[in-house]
Amino acid sequence: ARKQAAPEMPEHATAEVKNIIAIASGKGGVGKSTVTANLAVMLASAGYRVGILDSDIYGPSQPKMFGTEGFVPEVHMRNGKEVMAPAENYGVKVMSIGYFIKPEDALVWRGPMATNALRQLIHQTEWGKLDWLLVDLPPGTGDVHLTILKELKVDGAVIITTPQQVSVADALRAVGMFGGKGIEIPVIGIVENMAWFTPQELPCNRYYIFGSGGGRALAEKVNVDFLGEIPIMMSVMQGGEEGRPDSLVSGFSEPYYREIMEKIVK
Ligand code: ADP
Repeated sequence: ARKQAAPEMPEHATAEVKNIIAIASGKGGVGKSTVTANLAVMLASAGYRVGILDSDIYGPSQPKMFGTEGFVPEVHMRNGKEVMAPAENYGVKVMSIGYFIKPEDALVWRGPMATNALRQLIHQTEWGKLDWLLVDLPPGTGDVHLTILKELKVDGAVIITTPQQVSVADALRAVGMFGGKGIEIPVIGIVENMAWFTPQELPCNRYYIFGSGGGRALAEKVNVDFLGEIPIMMSVMQGGEEGRPDSLVSGFSEPYYREIMEKIVK
C-alpha cells in the first residue's frame, strides 16, 4: 500500500520558527523576564506569531507573568515522536521549565538534571509556525547557557542590564558569551531597565536610583545598538504579579517596550 501523505511534524521543534532571539543578563533580578514578557505581548499585538521558551532554571517566572501557573504540558505522539503543546495566553505561546518543577525545587536543579529537562523543552515543544521565539535565559554565563545556545539555532541576542555598575560589568560578560567557545551569535543590542523613577506627585522629576547611562555606555563600548530604556514603574511590577504584562494595559510602559520591539524587528 502506498504511504498516505500525512501532515509531517518537522524534524526539529523549531523548524517553522523564523527568528529565535535569546534574552540574557549578567545579573539576576535586573528585569530580564519582565522585558521578555512585555516584548512578547508587544510583538503579538503587532500581528506576529510569538512564543517564549523560559529556560531560567534558577527562577522560571514566565508561568506567573502569563497567569499560566499550574499548566501541565501534555505529552502526545506525533509521527512517532513525543511532543508537548505549550501554554498560551494573550496570543503568546509559553513553554517553561517552571511547568516541570516546583519553584522551591528550582535552586537544587543542577547539572545533568537541568540539562536533560531543558533538552526536552528545546526538542519536544510543539511550537508550530512562529515569527519570533524569545528565549528567556538563566542569568549569568555557564554550562546551561552553552547547552541552550548550541542546541537551539539562535539568531540574535538582547542583553538586559540596569544602569548600575555591577549589573553592567556582568552584562559585559554576557555579551562575551555570544562570541566565544564555539558560539557566534550576533548581539542585537542592549536594553537598560530600571533606568529612572518618576513619582506621581512630581511628574517632571526623574530620579536615577541605580545611576544613569550605564546601558548606553556598554552598548557603545561593545559597539552594538542601544535599544532603549525602561523606567521603574509600579504598574510594570504589578503586571508581573497579576499575570498580565503591563504593556497590554498601561499607557505608561507601552511606548518604552514598543520602541525596543520596533528596533528588534527591523
Ligand atoms: P530577572 O528575570 O532579570 O531575574 P525579573 O523580570 O524577574 O528579573 O524582575 C525582577 C523584579 O523587578 C520583579 O519583581 C519585577 O516585577 C521587577 N521589575 C522589573 N522591571 C521593572 C520595572 N521596569 N519597573 C518596576 N519593576 C520592575
